[in-house]
Amino acid sequence: MTSKVEQLKQHLYRRHDLGHANAVLGWDQEVNMPPGGVNARAEQQATLQSIAHEIFTSEETGKLLEAAEAEVAELDYDSDEASFVRVTRRGYDKLVKIPTELVAEMARATAQGFVAWREARQENDYPHFQPHLEKILDLNRRIADILGYEEHPYDALLDTYEPDITTAQVTQLFTELKEGLVPLLEEIVEEGQPVDGAFLEKDYPVDRQRDFTEVVLRQMGYDFNRGRQDEAPHPFTISFSRNDVRVTTRLFPNRPQSALFGSVHEGGHALYEQGIPEKFERTVLSGGATLGLHESQSRLWENMVGRSRPFWSYFLPIFRAFFPAQADGVSLEDFYRAINKVQPDFIRVEADEVTYNMHIFVRFEIEQAMVDGSLAVADIPEAWNSKYEEYLGIVPPTDTVGVLQDIHWSHGTIGYFPTYTLGNVIAAQLYRRMAQDLPGMEEGIARGELLPILDWMREHVHSYGSKFTAPELLERELGEGLLAQPLLDYMRAKYTEVYQL
Ligand code: ZN
Repeated sequence: MTSKVEQLKQHLYRRHDLGHANAVLGWDQEVNMPPGGVNARAEQQATLQSIAHEIFTSEETGKLLEAAEAEVAELDYDSDEASFVRVTRRGYDKLVKIPTELVAEMARATAQGFVAWREARQENDYPHFQPHLEKILDLNRRIADILGYEEHPYDALLDTYEPDITTAQVTQLFTELKEGLVPLLEEIVEEGQPVDGAFLEKDYPVDRQRDFTEVVLRQMGYDFNRGRQDEAPHPFTISFSRNDVRVTTRLFPNRPQSALFGSVHEGGHALYEQGIPEKFERTVLSGGATLGLHESQSRLWENMVGRSRPFWSYFLPIFRAFFPAQADGVSLEDFYRAINKVQPDFIRVEADEVTYNMHIFVRFEIEQAMVDGSLAVADIPEAWNSKYEEYLGIVPPTDTVGVLQDIHWSHGTIGYFPTYTLGNVIAAQLYRRMAQDLPGMEEGIARGELLPILDWMREHVHSYGSKFTAPELLERELGEGLLAQPLLDYMRAKYTEVYQL
């Protein structure tokens, strides 16, 4: 007889397949689709999503889930079966609580909100977006009330992106980070030796750039037999199964670092997805666990490995061979300092490693105040600008490069931003432990040996799929909770040297 767990799995295969088919449509929209296809594509995706939603929230799922829970009651918490049932339950409880009308209302509000946001950003016209943001915020508050929370309504929203972590914990962590990073940035700005990156502004043919990023991706262990790289305006990684995980990058002739670190970042996400064990395919355990854990993989590769001196002592000669005219006479030191240049600026996605987290602190504080009602939507631009002045010492000249720069709110996502910095925090914790476990790792990187890093991640992170939340995984693999210190130590050591402080 088929077990209840097996029955639940089989019942949910269709939901899983629809989700991945929908992802193919999403990939095509970003990479290939002509602009005219947008309305029809939105309908197709809405149809697939609603069928998948119906399957998941059906009474049958509820019944099978209860039966499966009884069956796994005696099993270990971390067994595959118990984890499958537990993670399914977590998603199911969230989705069944939210009424279908509210889901539909959110879909409408964000469809209109996205268009209004795009226009507002183009025209530097925040009041045009404001009523839409008010609506989206109101719906998010209703969702927070339905999902429930103990201390702050933001907890309920944060939990949908990063389960097991509260607003209070993030606040504590970010406070520690601020205490270390704000003074570090001040020292860099006031006392740092200037960095010259003029050679990065030369003309780098984009085809050569693409080829070079593929050399790097291969060396990292990205499997092109189970993936491919394309171009997209906003780089992303998407997985249709562990055997088809695609990355995207963007190519600018006068900014080779954009493609380079974009590809390495997405490559980090992709290695995670390609590394999920086969046994989890077509279940809720396939794919990376949480946003913070996912971002830890991309950030570790992009910054801690990809912007390190050993990495470039291996890759710079190859880079020079690809771009002899552009990189001629550029020393390893010049190159290393140029790719680690720190400069307070307005745009989050272009920020360097040190200032990046400041952009997140601003958003985290503003989102909480929006959600608890202490900040009116009309007053967000002013709050935004004064926080930029406080943390980065600059005031955005327009809302286009200020409060309107990110897509997230127009998509209805409030509570997502902190996961970026959580990713940096987790990356530093993992990197520290990995360096202890692998003596000679950095000397190996300088010889182009990147696979030991991948193997370590396979063992300690990828092999669990989405069984564990971030705190569970850290406790289990590192024996610690979320810690600010490893990231602060890493930043201080690296930038004291880069800027000769
Ligand atoms: Zn990412």
